[in-house]
Amino acid sequence: MTDDIARLAAGMADRLVARRRDLHRYPETAWTEFRTASLVAGALADAGYELRLGGEAVRRESMLGVPPAEELAAHMERAEAQWGDPALIGRMAGGLTGVVGELKCGEGPVVALRFDMDANDMDEARDDAHRPHREGFDSVNPGAMHACGHDGHVAIGLGVAEALAALRDRLNGTVRLIFQPGEEGVRGAGPMVDAGALDGVDYLLGGHIGFQARKTGQLVCGTDKFLATTKFDVTFTGVPAHAGAAPEQGRNALLAAACAALNMHAIPRHGQGGSRITVGVLNAGQARNVIPPNGLLKAESRGETTEINDYVFARAKDVAAGAAHMYGVDHAVAVVGRSASGGSDPELAARVRRIAEGMPFFEPSGIVDSVDLRGSEDFAVMLAEVRRQGGTGTYVMIGSDLASGHHSFHFDFDERSLAPGVELFVRCVFDCMTLPARVRA
Ligand SMILES: [Zn+2]
Repeated sequence: MTDDIARLAAGMADRLVARRRDLHRYPETAWTEFRTASLVAGALADAGYELRLGGEAVRRESMLGVPPAEELAAHMERAEAQWGDPALIGRMAGGLTGVVGELKCGEGPVVALRFDMDANDMDEARDDAHRPHREGFDSVNPGAMHACGHDGHVAIGLGVAEALAALRDRLNGTVRLIFQPGEEGVRGAGPMVDAGALDGVDYLLGGHIGFQARKTGQLVCGTDKFLATTKFDVTFTGVPAHAGAAPEQGRNALLAAACAALNMHAIPRHGQGGSRITVGVLNAGQARNVIPPNGLLKAESRGETTEINDYVFARAKDVAAGAAHMYGVDHAVAVVGRSASGGSDPELAARVRRIAEGMPFFEPSGIVDSVDLRGSEDFAVMLAEVRRQGGTGTYVMIGSDLASGHHSFHFDFDERSLAPGVELFVRCVFDCMTLPARVRA
């Protein structure tokens, strides 16, 4: 069995690289993953998976930070021009780009794997030091780049889908593959949870290429300390007036925004654990001699627990309201992303370790039980939902030599990590299927 999985994974290594490079060339950002999702859905259907698409995979009412309708329409057209499947893309209108594929293989637990699909909002480096450019697979889509490795995640996910379909006669349970849009900005997991994508899941696995496993051959078996976070915009709307002749008739939105920014950073820390708040953008004003009628803050709160983050965000909203009141301006707060706190199940991480120790690709000294993320990943939203139902899960980091840090325009990873990634996840699915179901149907 183990040998069969290793052989299947090794046999698809070249195709995984080709797939990754194709995805890298046509990156799509949050809620616009029409081409990517249509290729995923087509491949899953061909391999015999039952599909959930559109509103069955993503709850429209829960979507945050969705681009305007014209932008979505333009991206759908682009996806078709770039050889996406028009019929499948049509079912994703409105940005419903999540895909769930399920393979029912008799009695046994439901094992789910989650792969994120979106690219970053940035332009890719165009110099010969950057391999994707040198070898001709750099992004052709302006303002979009796979700078986090999610192209590799999709390639691995489709490899896993193919391998499990080939071995389906030997599976005992249900495999559910969840391809998630909008991980950047922590937007995609919540609407998939709300659509029921995690219902009945006993074991959930997810992971990332690189991150804190920055050398090929390393593996982190479990990730802890996901920070809960809320991403939010605050707009202040005042009244413009002549700065010399009639400033008293104006209502100054710039001062309200500045006051809110300073005082959000003065919110008291929480005694029960770590927290963060950052106002990353402050735009305000129109002209030197006009009382500023507009102000915009883009901010985020984080907390070691969901409760701590909720506390910081609630205080930030109070600060915004107070500042608006002080300067006599209107204000509105819009949440554009959110994620939960959480960590991996150490028992499941220990099983991942045992599997990895049986794979020559991973160096024994490079296998680590767990690391603290100290960042946010909306996998935590899915994990929290699985735990709520009685299931469990872990998040791995598959080591890969990185050309540059994540979210940098020179980002690139070592493609030799793709096939072992497939082998690891497939073996984990078989391993989880030896465990009892945990969630009552
Ligand atoms: Zn990422």
